[in-house]
Amino acid sequence: MIIEIEDLRKRYGARQAVDGVTLSVDEGEFFGLLGPNGAGKSTLVEIVEGLRRADSGRVSVFGKSPWPRDLDLLARLGIQTQSSSFFVRHTAREHLRRVATLHRVSRDRADEVLKLVGLEDSADTRVEKLSGGQRQRLAIASALTHDPELLFLDEPTAALDPLARKQLWGLLKSLPGTVVYTTHHLDEAEALCDRVAIIQNGRIVAVDTPAGLRERTGAASLEDAYLRLVAA
Ligand code: ADP
Repeated sequence: MIIEIEDLRKRYGARQAVDGVTLSVDEGEFFGLLGPNGAGKSTLVEIVEGLRRADSGRVSVFGKSPWPRDLDLLARLGIQTQSSSFFVRHTAREHLRRVATLHRVSRDRADEVLKLVGLEDSADTRVEKLSGGQRQRLAIASALTHDPELLFLDEPTAALDPLARKQLWGLLKSLPGTVVYTTHHLDEAEALCDRVAIIQNGRIVAVDTPAGLRERTGAASLEDAYLRLVAA
């Protein structure tokens, strides 16, 4: 197991954001975290990334505790957030070269990741001029620059038009390593995820393959299964 979480809890004032979560993610899995806004997904992910401290429980990532912050461990993680920012007035390639330098990896890695995310043709385009879909690809490329073993994607297709969203699926499917991904697009989760966890009010409602969740609820799609499980 790459990620092991046991009875994890985190409270903000009166709000129990994560309420006894036990979960594990295996090597090579594309693992989805689904749930309504405010369910505790970001809090959970940020604790696993070592960006927030849990109140109690146990988290292990590659057999190590992410808290207190561990720079060796962080170097093995790739993190794409919704607030991805780029070096202004840089081209896509220049941006990625700077990211590579920050990670102390070869600047040649910039061209490798541009290719990996299908942005070769936009290498010389300034980041401000990229389309929404291209910006998301660049955000993913930035998270991949140091060749992480574990990648966290936070709603990578949010704010994209339906075509750009579908076009990004191919890239998401081809990503190397283990991926933990949050989304509100259930068709996407169904197409991409090996397993999903549904979280609500800080608790795990169900963890299974999309097919397993459909069978369990008698639903025709993951979206139906999700709606039945969170309404139950
Ligand atoms: P999600 O990512 O599923 O939308 P979050 O983890 O962001 O959920 O939030 C879970 C709950 O914790 C929400 O009720 C949210 O308002 C609350 N919360 C999140 N971050 C903080 C914070 N820094 N301080 C206080 N409350 C927070």
